[in-house]
Amino acid sequence: RVKHENRGDFRFYTSEMQAHTERALLLASALRHAVAGGQLHLHYQPQFDVSTRQVTGAEALVRWSHPSLGVLSPAEFIPVAESTGLINELGAWVLREAARELRRWQDEGVAPPMLAVNLSAVQFRRPDLPECIRRELDEAGIQPERLELELTEAVAMDDPEKALHMMRQLAASGVRIAIDDFGTGYSSLSYLKRFTAHRLKIDQSFVRDIGEDEDDRAIVRAIIRLAQSLGMHTVAEGVETEEQLAFLKAEGCDEAQGYLLARPMPADDMRAFLAANRALIVR
Ligand code: C2E
Ligand code: MG
Ligand code: MG
Ligand code: MG
Repeated sequence: RVKHENRGDFRFYTSEMQAHTERALLLASALRHAVAGGQLHLHYQPQFDVSTRQVTGAEALVRWSHPSLGVLSPAEFIPVAESTGLINELGAWVLREAARELRRWQDEGVAPPMLAVNLSAVQFRRPDLPECIRRELDEAGIQPERLELELTEAVAMDDPEKALHMMRQLAASGVRIAIDDFGTGYSSLSYLKRFTAHRLKIDQSFVRDIGEDEDDRAIVRAIIRLAQSLGMHTVAEGVETEEQLAFLKAEGCDEAQGYLLARPMPADDMRAFLAANRALIVR
C-alpha cells in the first residue's frame, strides 16, 4: 500500500475506475426496480422532411428517472442493462410503450407515418425477436409498416450473416429497419447492399462540423450518394443549425432530426406538438 504512494497516476486511475465500477453496480441493482417501478419513460423526437419540413416520423428515446439520482441518460444505463441481461425486459417495455403511444396518436388522428425504436445488440441477437415484436404490435393494434427498428451499424456488422438473416425475417413481417449511427462502424459495402434496411441515419458526429470541416462535408455527401444508389433514404441526426440543414437539403438528404427542428420531449408534449402541427404531418 505504502509502495503505491509515489505512483500518483496509478492511484488516480484506480480510484476513477473504482468509482466507475461502483456506480455501474449501483445502477445495475437500481435498474432491476426501474422497469416494474414505473421509473422508465419515453421521450419522442420528431423527424422532418428536409425539403418541406413536414413531420415524417419520430424516434422513441428511453429515459430513467431515478428517485435520488435524477434523470439518467440511456448512454449510461443501456450498457449496464446489456451487461446484466436486464436489457431484454427493458427492451420489451420500450417496444410495448412505443406501440401503445403510437396507438394513442392514431386514435387522436395525429400520428405520423412511423415511430422508430432503438434496438440493443442483445435484443437483436434473440431468435424470438420477430415474434416478440409481432405480439406487441398485435396487442396495440399497430400495422407493422408503422414501426421502424433502429440498429447501429456496429451491431449489424458484428456478425453480418446473422444480422442479414434477422433483418430479412423482420422485413418480411413488414416492419422497417434503419441503420443508426451510420459512418461510425465498419460497414462492408457488399453487406450493406444486401441488408434490407430502409434508411441510413447519418451519425451526428459528421453533421456537427458540416460548417467547418470539408472532410465531414465530403463524408456526408458520400453517405447520401451511397444510400441513393442502394435505394435507401437518409436521415441526418443532430441537426442544430440552419446552415447544416441547408447543406443537407442541397445534397439531397431526405430527412432530418435535431434540436434545430425539435428536441426529444415527453409523451404529453409530443401529443401537443403533433396536434399543433397536424397540418404538417405526412400521411
Ligand atoms: P441515438 O439512437 O443515435 O439517438 C440520438 C441521440 O441524439 C439521442 O440521445 C438524442 O436525444 C440526441 N439528439 C437529438 N438531436 C440532437 C441534436 O440536435 N444535438 C445533439 N447533440 N444531440 C441530439 P439520447 O436520447 O441521450 O440517446 C442516446 C443513445 O441511447 C441513442 O443514440 C441510442 O443509441 C440509445 N438509446 C436511447 N433509447 C434507447 C432504447 O429505448 N433502447 C436502446 N437499446 N437504446 C436506446
Ligand atoms: Mg437511434
Ligand atoms: Mg444515432
Ligand atoms: Mg448514438
